[in-house]
Amino acid sequence: MSKTILVIAEHSDGKLRQVSYEAIQAAKLCTKKGDNIHIAILGYQITELANSISDESIEKIYVMDHPDLEQYNPESYVAGVNQLVELSSPEGIVLGHTAIGRDLAPIISASHDAGQISDVIKIETLENEVLFTRPIYAGKAFETKKFCSTPWVLTIRPNNIDTIEIKNGSIAIEKVEYSNPISLRATIQQVVRNTSGKVDLSEAKIVVAGGRGVKSQEGFKPLQELADLLGGAVGASRGACDADYCDYSLQIGQTGKVVTPEIYIACGISGAIQHVAGMSQSKVIIAINKDRDAPIFKIADFGIVGDLFTVVPMLTEEFKQVLA
Ligand code: FAD
Repeated sequence: MSKTILVIAEHSDGKLRQVSYEAIQAAKLCTKKGDNIHIAILGYQITELANSISDESIEKIYVMDHPDLEQYNPESYVAGVNQLVELSSPEGIVLGHTAIGRDLAPIISASHDAGQISDVIKIETLENEVLFTRPIYAGKAFETKKFCSTPWVLTIRPNNIDTIEIKNGSIAIEKVEYSNPISLRATIQQVVRNTSGKVDLSEAKIVVAGGRGVKSQEGFKPLQELADLLGGAVGASRGACDADYCDYSLQIGQTGKVVTPEIYIACGISGAIQHVAGMSQSKVIIAINKDRDAPIFKIADFGIVGDLFTVVPMLTEEFKQVLA
């Protein structure tokens, strides 16, 4: 019998987020020929977004457009998603392991008495089973799990599952009226962005992160210049945030963001276990530190022993030449 997987797509600034395309790929890995993938896009004035998805695996895109869905609000989003789950009757629901996904997924699981596997970084098919791998103990070990019942809910960590090609398409779009607006117990009055970065840190392919070794707010400027040149984002250790060199929204680690970029450049970061928990899954780690015994070198693929204020501008100049 064929099955359906429903992907809850996220968007920001009028575009689908990269992790939404990765979630579609994750859904594809959970399906066989003849199965269906449905996409759900919830928001306000977002109908156009449905045109930015094209893949032969997708049967239908549900668009739910309502002012109550303009900002993420768990109450309205759960009501909307549950309405779409009823329409789609999926065996599985896939979300990004993002701030929204982490909040929404357990509520949806609880509503449908579904099993949940979170923060998945790898999906494999073995004979007739689909296996999901996720890091545990702050990335020190991995566990592989499978679902034993349906429905199920999955969240995938950004930047780990390949993405489907991002292109415009013409997939059947079903506009669904948000039919039962509930009386919200809390509403969002205003969202004030506290980040200046052009690239979302949790989805960035390249992260240039600074630690206490950066020494000041001014010290982050060369890091920002390198990140801008490479189309990446700036991150930080808690040491740098605590010292007020940068905003806490940049903090990476156990109590900050988890990032898995292609390249992570750690500048003046010692490599404390709590920091490593947030970046150890990066594909290539480059560490710049003037202390050759700094623990960050133990997990680095490339280490540069030196003063970051000399090395980072040198790297920027080299990349400028290469990219010219
Ligand atoms: P330091 O450890 O002070 O290291 C600075 C490094 O910069 C040193 O290695 C030094 O050699 C190098 N350096 C100095 N000057 C230069 C220079 N000119 N050029 C090159 N290198 C230079 N930390 C996080 O990052 N994220 C978290 O989420 C997090 N959560 C935590 C949760 C808990 C419960 C606790 C207890 C701690 C947490 N921490 C977290 C803090 C963590 O333990 C470390 O204190 C912190 O990561 C240290 O930051 P740092 O590496 O920038 O600073």
